[in-house]
Amino acid sequence: MPAFDHPLLKTLLENSTEAVILLDRLGNIRRVNQAFANASGYAPQELEGRNIRRFLLEGEERSLFEEIYESVWQGGYWQGEIVARRKTGETFRGALKVSSVLSGGGGERYYVGQLIFWSRAPSPGAGAGGLYPSGMDSLTGLPGRPLFVDRLQQALSQAHRQGRCVAVMFLDLDRFQFLNDSLGWAAGDTVLLEISRRLGRCLRTSDSVGRIGADEFALLLADIDEEREAVRNAGVVARKVYESLALPLSLAGEELTISAAMGITLSPQDGMSAEVMMKNAEVALQHARRKGWNNYQFFSSEMTETARRRFALETSLRSAIERGELLLYYQPQVDLKSGRVIGAEALARWRHPERGMVPPGEFIPVAEETGLIVPIGEWVLRTACRQLAEWRDIGLAPIRVGVNLSAKQFQRQDLAQMVADLIAEFGLDPHYLDLEITESAIMEDVERAVAMLNRISALGVTLSIDDFGTGYSSLAQLRQFPFKTLKIDRTFVRSIQENTSDAAIVSAIIAMAHSLNQNVIVEGLETQEQLAILRELKCNEMQGFLFSAAVPAVELTEMLRMDKRLL
Ligand code: C2E
Ligand code: MG
Ligand code: MG
Repeated sequence: MPAFDHPLLKTLLENSTEAVILLDRLGNIRRVNQAFANASGYAPQELEGRNIRRFLLEGEERSLFEEIYESVWQGGYWQGEIVARRKTGETFRGALKVSSVLSGGGGERYYVGQLIFWSRAPSPGAGAGGLYPSGMDSLTGLPGRPLFVDRLQQALSQAHRQGRCVAVMFLDLDRFQFLNDSLGWAAGDTVLLEISRRLGRCLRTSDSVGRIGADEFALLLADIDEEREAVRNAGVVARKVYESLALPLSLAGEELTISAAMGITLSPQDGMSAEVMMKNAEVALQHARRKGWNNYQFFSSEMTETARRRFALETSLRSAIERGELLLYYQPQVDLKSGRVIGAEALARWRHPERGMVPPGEFIPVAEETGLIVPIGEWVLRTACRQLAEWRDIGLAPIRVGVNLSAKQFQRQDLAQMVADLIAEFGLDPHYLDLEITESAIMEDVERAVAMLNRISALGVTLSIDDFGTGYSSLAQLRQFPFKTLKIDRTFVRSIQENTSDAAIVSAIIAMAHSLNQNVIVEGLETQEQLAILRELKCNEMQGFLFSAAVPAVELTEMLRMDKRLL
């Protein structure tokens, strides 16, 4: 089968949104894809088998064709601008990239051309030679300003109805005028096209991007969940945009890096209407421009600060493990009959070089979003296992150590294997390792969770359900999982004194769990009054500041050594 009839090639061609043409070394057109056919106005059958010299290329361009062939033959590659003719007779401009490929076994040489159309219509935005529907920018095919505003209006009314947020980000390329002047408008256009593609890749499907000025783009993030998520969400996209712009762009053999100023505004926080949003984004953009290259600003300076702090945190978290800044503290769990420490929950702490101790409530969510939770979680698990081994080695009576698992770790295929390896490495009795998981982590994919939890439980490791009562799952639902312990969330304890129905709920949970042969730990005990109530409710294990906060390993070691009673 000739290479160009290969079904894989066919699939590749048909799925490319760029116009692609495949030529043999004589210039005969062997394949074109639909995008190419659409843009040229010819049906594929009208092109395939013909010679490109007689089609598409215009007068002088035919000699250009020889030049292209020459340079592809020698260097394997050509890139430049061409003028070609449509079936209808009109001409159009395009950026063409041609490279040569050898078909299997080093046999035939073919040429693959990728054509990007620039249709410079006399009246901008007027449909640009029919390539793009009206309202679209003729160079990039992105919505122009009016269409973008339309979309923004729609997104806003939908978001406000549903109580959600919308973000608008304006992006203005640094030094674009200079680039245009020094390298020529064709180079400038290539850059804009490339940027528009890169921006597209930074967005989710519900988002959109428009070109609202010569070198200005606008991003619309529709459908952001919660108000307090909005700054973070917009910040994450801003970061992604910067990362993708930072990739070098090669232009006529030169490597360019692009930077941009960005202005971000949020609705409902900064305003409700599309008009106000567009104005705010412009104000924020001006502000960012004044700050220098590659800068972004939120409309509200407070939000800029929040986003910046978060990025700074993310950056330093990336190296926290290597720099040994993470610590594992242990919060004792107390047996209410004897007052003895029968277990401890391992809780991560981060000693930040400038900020001091950062609580996990602040850095664990960042770690989860960035995927850093995987190495961090592994470090926590390993450190806790090593601690168990150390206590055993110095002859202390064993206690159970609880380790928190995040949903992200839980989705990893190799979690059970990792746990098994650690148990083997430290020669642990697996019953003393207890893994804490929240309801929401398992409810994301129940089937998978059941399988994973069963595998872990088969190792002899025990499992606890953390923050019980904050989710929506019932005990009955949770019965399908092999949990040994329920940890009742501290919000219950807080209200137990004032609210008798909360006390009744806790009492029912304890009774039911015990009847199912499950253990119950109540978290967050702070006062003697709470202790008295929980005693009555037949709770027998607790954890809270009343007994002890989480302490460094050496301190817990000391408590265990002295067999300290915490009641
Ligand atoms: P959690 O697993 O529910 O941990 C219990 C949290 O309650 C701890 O906060 C603990 O210090 C706090 N606490 C204990 N007793 C009391 C009390 O009497 N009153 C009050 N107000 N709080 C009490 P911490 O250490 O700040 O941890 C917060 C959360 O961060 C943890 O909640 C857990 O979800 C997460 N986390 C901590 N370490 C790790 C870790 O290594 N991996 C993962 N995935 N998550 C972790
Ligand atoms: Mg926990
Ligand atoms: Mg908890």
